[in-house]
Amino acid sequence: MGTNPYERVTAAVAAINDVLNAMNVLVWDARVNMPASGARARAEQSATLTTLAQERLLAPSLADDVAASRAELGADATLVQARTLDAVEEAIAYHRGLPPELTARLARAKGTAQQAWVEARRADDFAGFAPHLQHMLEIKREVAERTAPELPLYDALLAEYEPGVRASDLTTLFETLKATLVPLVAEIREARAPRTDLLRRHYDVDRQRAFALEIARRFGYDTERGRLDVAPHPFEISFATGDVRITTRYDERWLAQSMFATWHEAGHGIYEQYADPAHARGALSSDLIGLYAVSGTSYGTHESQSRLWENLVGRSRTFWDAHYGALVDVFPDALADIDVETFHRAINAVTPSCIRVEADELTYHLHIMLRFELEHALLDGSLKVRDLPGAWNEAMVSYLGVRPPDDRLGVLQDLHWSVGLVGAFPTYTIGTVMASQFYAAALRDDVAILPELTAGTYGRLHGWLHEHVYRHARLYRAGELLERSTGRGLDPSDYLTYVKEKYGALYGL
Ligand code: ZN
Repeated sequence: MGTNPYERVTAAVAAINDVLNAMNVLVWDARVNMPASGARARAEQSATLTTLAQERLLAPSLADDVAASRAELGADATLVQARTLDAVEEAIAYHRGLPPELTARLARAKGTAQQAWVEARRADDFAGFAPHLQHMLEIKREVAERTAPELPLYDALLAEYEPGVRASDLTTLFETLKATLVPLVAEIREARAPRTDLLRRHYDVDRQRAFALEIARRFGYDTERGRLDVAPHPFEISFATGDVRITTRYDERWLAQSMFATWHEAGHGIYEQYADPAHARGALSSDLIGLYAVSGTSYGTHESQSRLWENLVGRSRTFWDAHYGALVDVFPDALADIDVETFHRAINAVTPSCIRVEADELTYHLHIMLRFELEHALLDGSLKVRDLPGAWNEAMVSYLGVRPPDDRLGVLQDLHWSVGLVGAFPTYTIGTVMASQFYAAALRDDVAILPELTAGTYGRLHGWLHEHVYRHARLYRAGELLERSTGRGLDPSDYLTYVKEKYGALYGL
């Protein structure tokens, strides 16, 4: 134990961080290796570790040491010290607001609602899930009222994922995006559709893996400090900067899926691997409110790093001009008759469809806007849970021009609400907007990046991101990172310029 109060704070936080990282190991194992029969015991193990972390956070000695550190350090506190104390203090206040009974009720509701969702989706039976969703919404309302009584309901929930952003900011953001995306998607529907059959030819899985991983290494994902495994729902998770795991899934008849998922998760992984090791085991490499060990700051910022590599780099014509030859060498039987232009059009096809996770770069955000509106209406009571499927389908028609044939392809498609992630969907769009801002700023700041991209090398782009994003871990919030590195807060203009140029060219608009 340290001898001064600040050292005692960092020692206590290090232990909490260890518990949270141990929990991440259990989560990784559950999603990659665990037989289904282990699920019940694993849920209990995770709940015990969460409780342990929470108890340590709420130990009276920690709050005392935070107060004593403030008094002792005063105005001499470094930025890291000040932000560490802020993070611990905020987390203590948040968790003090939650009675243990409510935490336990939320944990139980997550377990049962998730199970009910799995069964309801399988049977296409929304009515079976409705009471669980109703119950979850009531609990989330209670959590919001207790942890942030000064904020409107939606803002309080959003703050858990994207601190500093308000629902009113999102309404403005979405209106701006809609004004460009809706007419653009309508124009694309009138244009000639690209062929996509070539992505459904035979692609050997081992070769898919080798090609995608080699590119991920070039982006900067360090396989000496990580590994790539298979999981039905691809994800990234870190246990330390020296151990950052990613996953993907393979389909030998669908090239695009594993490749882009690998680069997406590698983007998340690079962010975690390149956090300054000085933040290891500290409050700036843990989400102490969500009780999750993560170095990246905010859901949206994390998503910006995955989408930057997956989409802005990996789906660009510049990228494929550099690497398409290598892909053809790996899959000569499938691709010998396909030129780079045809391939590039195929991987960027815009097709309004029912499923969010399969959506292209443009229609994706319409799926998010729909969820944002419906979440709002559910929380303020203007929409009843029993009326949700009808409202969902109407919104799908008005946003995307498609009507889901059943609730499996409609309101039951996402897991999020069943596990209490209410207010988290907008962070995906925030991440996309941030990705374009970072990317545009990098290309402006360092004119040597573009020639490197043309040559298929990524050291300078990685270097810019390391300098402005990765190394800071959670020292700055999303808005601060953007201001510091791009000179602006969240602003969709770079994203809108990107989509208009890219899709205008692809579809000859
Ligand atoms: Zn992601």
